[in-house]
Amino acid sequence: MSNKVIIFSAPSGAGKSTVVNHILGLHPELEFSVSATSRAPRGQEKHGVEYYFFSADEFRTMIAEDKFIEHEEVYPGSFYGTLKSEIERIWAKGHVIVFDIDVQGGVNLKRIFGEKAFSILIQAPSVDILRERLIGRGTDSLEAIEKRVAKAASEMEFAEGKFDYVLVNNDLEKTFLEAEAIIDGFLKK
Ligand code: 5GP
Repeated sequence: MSNKVIIFSAPSGAGKSTVVNHILGLHPELEFSVSATSRAPRGQEKHGVEYYFFSADEFRTMIAEDKFIEHEEVYPGSFYGTLKSEIERIWAKGHVIVFDIDVQGGVNLKRIFGEKAFSILIQAPSVDILRERLIGRGTDSLEAIEKRVAKAASEMEFAEGKFDYVLVNNDLEKTFLEAEAIIDGFLKK
């Protein structure tokens, strides 16, 4: 099968980015889909690497111009979306696209790509552990963390039965091995 995509979804704090970066490091044919967002860059984030950063107005214009395959207001006032041009760019190289996307976006992309897609939901072992991890990351205010935790709880409920595979991230080394095995299986198809 050609033109494959791998979708990773999770509430933030479940360890999704760590797992995605690990998998990307193992397979040169996998390429990260850089999303567009209207949120401000965090820490060392750079335009075109972690995200394409735009103002909310620029983002709305691009929505009106039908530039996105999917987009969402993930947090009030913060838009995120996958540009159609990004998908064309990666497939043109013969690479497999890797998405790091919220749960609703992951479900939408699976619906769009069907059999070409393998969708993986990464779960934190519990809401308390999720909160501890977000506090430990030290990049968000307590208010932002509580918003993320509340969103995570409702996302877990919504996600039930909608992904090809559920990966519970208890122990990072074990999670890496489990992720490697399922990705290998999908790439060989
Ligand atoms: P963060 O601000 O922590 O980087 O991302 C917040 C959430 O937005 C994460 O769950 C992330 O996966 C999700 N996200 C990133 N890119 C996209 C996208 O293109 N579309 C959607 N729907 N969600 C995205």
